[in-house]
Amino acid sequence: MQKTYDYLIVGSGLFGAVFAHKARQKGKKCLVIDRRKHLGGNIYCEKIADINVHKYGAHIFHTSNRQVWEFVNKFVEFNRYTNSPVANYKGKLYNLPFNMNTFYALWGVCTPAEAQAKIEQQRKEAGIINPQNLEEQAISLVGKDIFEILIKNYTEKQWGRKCKDLPAFIIKRLPVRFTFNNNYFNDLYQGIPIGGYNILIDKLLENIETKTNADFFANRNYFENIAKEIVFTGKIDEFFDYQFGKLEYRTVHFETETLDCENFQGNAVVNYTDSATPFTRIIEHKHFEFGVQPKTVISREYSSEYTEASEPFYPVNDERNNLLYAKYQQLAQNEKNIIFGGRLAEYKYYDMDKIIEQALKIC
Ligand code: UDP
Repeated sequence: MQKTYDYLIVGSGLFGAVFAHKARQKGKKCLVIDRRKHLGGNIYCEKIADINVHKYGAHIFHTSNRQVWEFVNKFVEFNRYTNSPVANYKGKLYNLPFNMNTFYALWGVCTPAEAQAKIEQQRKEAGIINPQNLEEQAISLVGKDIFEILIKNYTEKQWGRKCKDLPAFIIKRLPVRFTFNNNYFNDLYQGIPIGGYNILIDKLLENIETKTNADFFANRNYFENIAKEIVFTGKIDEFFDYQFGKLEYRTVHFETETLDCENFQGNAVVNYTDSATPFTRIIEHKHFEFGVQPKTVISREYSSEYTEASEPFYPVNDERNNLLYAKYQQLAQNEKNIIFGGRLAEYKYYDMDKIIEQALKIC
């Protein structure tokens, strides 16, 4: 059969879109397909009440990689949004990430030395020397109080697993600082595309053939034969027909509401770190772009175990899943003319910048 395309790219999220863009620049003919009715994967935004609503959850772009930053800025200008989430624990508010503002609100400590002493004392009491899981890692980083108030319930709601059964690296994503700095990220560059993420995706995919509502698995034989190479960004276990068993993913769903008020919570992200509140956080989308619209749109975010009827968001990188993934990875390495990339195909808790970095490197 005649191969019409150099690349069939399965999935139009960031990995697929960046890859397609670079391939096209090199004169390659690409077709990008996506199962959903829109392009952009989970960074897709929907306009509601003139506000860009992050349809699949808050996406805040941050990177320390200058090449990646310059790359995205070629397509869309980024604003100066800095993520500073607030945590609500039983009606009391704390700043995130863990910093002097948090320590002051919690313990009344005014200096870094006092905060460090408090954490050191709690760390000693817990007797953790070499943290083996998320719980031990968290306590050894910030002490028992913060673990109980700001980490334990939120994490267990988000992951549906005990903190003791989760890998330590998840909590290491968050900075711990002994300065009064509420910036959630340590990266050099940060912001939100002015006008929303769709601009970025549309520009990346400019002059590239795309098909939405196109399910690779529904027509696998056809799709496998129309291109010389495939770039696959979907679930790796599905690609290999779940032959070793299913990998676990977490999904999130959102209750989105338009409210007849200008400002609901005064911040883009408010986390609910108690166990009684069923959702993990409320996103007020207009604040990502300093919106002044007369209305506001909020999304309550609920976490649950992924099923085929939902969208996979987070890989669950515990021991069982990592071992299973290693088997699929082995199969992937034996495949010729197929590139596996992105959060789902590489089963990695990647941030957006890392996805772009990977796509640029591979292409
Ligand atoms: N986390 C927490 N309390 C919070 C926010 C985050 O314990 O208020 C923990 C939780 O385990 C979460 C991890 O930190 O999975 C990483 O959080 P991040 O904000 O990076 O998660 P994402 O935005 O990717 O969902």
